[in-house]
Amino acid sequence: MTKLALLGGESTRFPDRSQDELFRWPIVTKEDEEAVLDVVRNNRYSGTDITTKFQDEFAKWIGRKYAICYSSGTMSLSAAMFAVGLGVGDEIICTTKTYWASISQAINFGASAVFCNIDDNLSMDPADLERCISPRTKAIMVVHYCSYPADMDAIMAIAKKHNLMVIEDVSHAHGTLYKGRKVGTFGDVAAMSMMSGKAFAAGELGTLVTDNRKIYERAMAYAHYERNNAAFITESEDLKPYYHIALGGVKGRANQVCSALALGQLKYYDERTEEIDRAMNYFWDQLEGLPGIRPIRPKKGEGSTMGGWYNAQGQYHPEELHGLPVGRFCEAVRAQGFGGCWDGANFCLHNHEFFKTFDLYHLGKPSRIAYNDHDVRLDDQYLKPSESRFCFSIPWFKKFDQEMIDAYAACYRTVIENHEQLIEKKEDDEQGGRWYGMENHAKK
Ligand SMILES: *Cc1c(COP(=O)(O)O)cnc(C)c1O
Repeated sequence: MTKLALLGGESTRFPDRSQDELFRWPIVTKEDEEAVLDVVRNNRYSGTDITTKFQDEFAKWIGRKYAICYSSGTMSLSAAMFAVGLGVGDEIICTTKTYWASISQAINFGASAVFCNIDDNLSMDPADLERCISPRTKAIMVVHYCSYPADMDAIMAIAKKHNLMVIEDVSHAHGTLYKGRKVGTFGDVAAMSMMSGKAFAAGELGTLVTDNRKIYERAMAYAHYERNNAAFITESEDLKPYYHIALGGVKGRANQVCSALALGQLKYYDERTEEIDRAMNYFWDQLEGLPGIRPIRPKKGEGSTMGGWYNAQGQYHPEELHGLPVGRFCEAVRAQGFGGCWDGANFCLHNHEFFKTFDLYHLGKPSRIAYNDHDVRLDDQYLKPSESRFCFSIPWFKKFDQEMIDAYAACYRTVIENHEQLIEKKEDDEQGGRWYGMENHAKK
């Protein structure tokens, strides 16, 4: 028995060398610097040529006809909602455990967010999806959460049966494959963040992709005032009276500095994420078979992958560890040597006051249900299962460095193998989490 570092024992020994390369992201080369300097030196921030070049290359890379860039992922997801025709009184279904910008924009369209439960892998649970559907349901927002591909076969079958639009939020999952095909190519439209913290990191940027010309034109009209004209809107007669003014009432196009960065990142994305994939899979292989924890990664042999492994998580099953609370487990891993181990990922959105009470329209009721009856599908009692899908974060390796990865894996293994030292009394488990980013680890 090894005394855990949290209780005064020794922490895990790491190889005595720099870990900068192991975690550095994004990788920025001279080529990237030159591309950015070209924009700055020649005052090209507001043009569109670099953006259109990136859009063409990105569409080809992901396997869709059209791509449009925006100032952020949030804006690209707004454009997707507008593009599928989300409007007053409509409902849009999204999982409760995700970053707020997957679904918060629904209130800008007078639509209601309806929350669906997650499964063990923190993805949309297709078994809970039909509960969420009503005659008002317009669309499903599928998030490929923490890089794991959602079960698109099951979700698309249900969408087809009920004639619903499908939007994919690919912000966590650039390059993730579902049965051999890139996520973002299953739904009617996909949109994603490419901000600096994501796997595909290009400053502040969002990108929407689709094969559908009408969706493309509406998405363009939403926030791209300069391209809202006859050169781009060729088939949508209904949009023609509105040329030159952005239909969302907002400006949301990308700037050329970020598009230049995106071009450079795209060029090397596959080769860089291949190394991430190798390192992350190796890490999980070292922990295979231990009680209490399971990898969140697709089964081998189905052709599914984890793309860039953004914010990768593990499942946590306290009942296999004498009820050790997940927060305490993470605390012990941090003491053992990996300071980035935290529980919970994002809090469940249905618990945030934004969705419970915020009254944007001054109608005297929550905007989430401003134009809808408060019926059973909006009721949070169904979402308890999502709150007790326990998870914890793992290191995000960018390089395959076997010795170093072994040391990180040892931090987790040591805690699991000696977890009984941490059992004081039976506690009810409640995990932490955060509304955004990596800060704010407080319990609710
Ligand atoms: C980051 C993120 C967004 C929003 O993207 P921004 O570029 O930050 O606006 C949307 N959805 C998910 C799941 C995200 O993680």
